Amino acid sequence: MNFEQLGLISPLLKAVSEAGYETPTPIQQAAISAVLENRDVMASAQTGTGKTAAFTLPILQKLADSPAKKHPRALIVTPTRELAAQIKENADIYGRFLDLHSTTIFGGVKQGPQVKSLRQGTDILIATPGRLLDLYQQKELDLQFIEIVVLDEADRMLDMGFIHDIKRILAVLPAKRQSLMFSATFSPEIRKLGKTLLNDPVEIDVAVKNSTASAVKQQVFPVDKSQKAALLAYLLEQHGWHQSLVFTRTKHG
Ligand code: AMP
Repeated sequence: MNFEQLGLISPLLKAVSEAGYETPTPIQQAAISAVLENRDVMASAQTGTGKTAAFTLPILQKLADSPAKKHPRALIVTPTRELAAQIKENADIYGRFLDLHSTTIFGGVKQGPQVKSLRQGTDILIATPGRLLDLYQQKELDLQFIEIVVLDEADRMLDMGFIHDIKRILAVLPAKRQSLMFSATFSPEIRKLGKTLLNDPVEIDVAVKNSTASAVKQQVFPVDKSQKAALLAYLLEQHGWHQSLVFTRTKHG
């Protein structure tokens, strides 16, 4: 299957092709058409599966088809500022031949520039839960035109204690909207959140089971604690390993 067969419009096909994508990944094959058909989606997909494009591409297409407003029409909620920045970067790449604008808001930095950017108007808002709620409560944010909401990495947001913020955000969104939830795992808690958020969702599961890449060889060296550092140094030198990744239990270690 290729991107044309998924029903994407030509400005998106052009951008995707220029990004070097040839075939849609499994999550993209399943999610893009479901979102374009206005379905809610509950997908289990980890980073690296192409999940960002799986929700960003159809969102751009839907917004390109509906009349612009000064206020955001799509809301993507994600746990960290790094993810927010990454999603924006992708949205800018895929949307470069469309006249749509996206803005990120996240905590840990001054809100001034973010507020200024919001006031200039945006189509897609990419946000972490805390700052989103904060700016909403300060009335810097109008969420009444949201047509589509995405909870990205929902399991991580719950782990980080964002559940109350998320519930408050969902409560102020228009009831008539499309909702998508992406999560690496589906714990009972996530399913419960899904039940309150999603309406008859298409369920997509492309989660990679926890396994080692077949090219990776594993070896165990039982060794006394006092000799671990010396053994590691020996192995690095012996094999000429110039690029290595060492995991330790503590920072000090
Ligand atoms: P994600 O899972 O969204 O973090 O994406 C992982 C990486 O795969 C990103 O660097 C994307 O640019 C890339 N990617 C996403 N979809 C495709 C595709 N269909 N073909 C090739 N690369 C892709």
